[in-house]
Amino acid sequence: MSIALKGPYRLTADGIKGAIQTSRKGVFALGHQDFDGRFRIAHVGRSDADLQIALRDLIGTSAMFKYLETPSDRASFEAHCELYHKFKPPGNHLHPDRPKGTNWTCPRCLALRNR
Ligand SMILES: [Zn+2]
Repeated sequence: MSIALKGPYRLTADGIKGAIQTSRKGVFALGHQDFDGRFRIAHVGRSDADLQIALRDLIGTSAMFKYLETPSDRASFEAHCELYHKFKPPGNHLHPDRPKGTNWTCPRCLALRNR
């Protein structure tokens, strides 16, 4: 799976509001642009309810964000796992957890297989 994140946008109240419509679920990456203009990912996450609210809670932790709306909780979970494995973000110490009430497993590893 290759994930085309949109952005980057500024991780500010206005930046979030301008980029995302309300009540969209999805995944996001926080980070900054380096001197070459490359987006450096510090942290990846997802919201199974509302990306705007999840990102507003993270204002101040990074300068910029990228995001992708996803069509389902399962798509969000799998995209979160893909981003985690692809970028190994320094801000993510733990493997993404599955949504409560599911037994979904990571498409990339066995981390959740026996839980
Ligand atoms: Zn995994």
